[in-house]
Amino acid sequence: MSSVFTGYVADLADRRIYPGEIICKDGVITEIRELERVPEGSLYYLPGLTDAHVHVESSMMTPANFAKVAVTHGVVSAVSDPHEIVLPHLFRPQTAQERKPHLFP
Ligand SMILES: [Zn+2]
Repeated sequence: MSSVFTGYVADLADRRIYPGEIICKDGVITEIRELERVPEGSLYYLPGLTDAHVHVESSMMTPANFAKVAVTHGVVSAVSDPHEIVLPHLFRPQTAQERKPHLFP
């Protein structure tokens, strides 16, 4: 199935927005064509955002729920920094006092 979306296309690489149409086939973009004009009030089409550093655990959500929320804000990929994740069944987290008792007389 093919679909054509007409509107303003944001080209971040070339730092411009131009009137165009996006051609999709079976859910995949196959071509983007520049047009001379589009109807007034047309939509703007932007590429998805990549969050280059995120702590999913700080959101207090599961990764699946985090993704459901993030995608509504244009985030289509994320690089997760998991250093705050604690797996209590593998080890028990320690307080700073437990790890360095000599610093806490
Ligand atoms: Zn980090």
